[in-house]
Amino acid sequence: MVQTDPNQVAQTIADQLALEVGNIVPAAVRDARLAVCTQCPFFQNGTCTQCGCYVRFRASLKNKHCPLNHWFDDKEHLSD
Ligand code: SF4
Repeated sequence: MVQTDPNQVAQTIADQLALEVGNIVPAAVRDARLAVCTQCPFFQNGTCTQCGCYVRFRASLKNKHCPLNHWFDDKEHLSD
């Protein structure tokens, strides 16, 4: 999926997330994940260069994690 128009990318992400019923994290979790991503050296133009995902999409899903376990909730799961 190669798109550079920010509005088109945002719409595509919204469309894809609408298909993920039951797999969406609470907004606070998504926002905390995105706060980590935007400070990460692998974050470029809304994309994670480690996994290739749009981070807004990946960070919104329950069944996704940071490939480097940088999200706070990944660390909590790893300590279980
Ligand atoms: S998912 Fe992980 S590696 Fe990728 S940009 Fe976010 S914090 Fe960085």
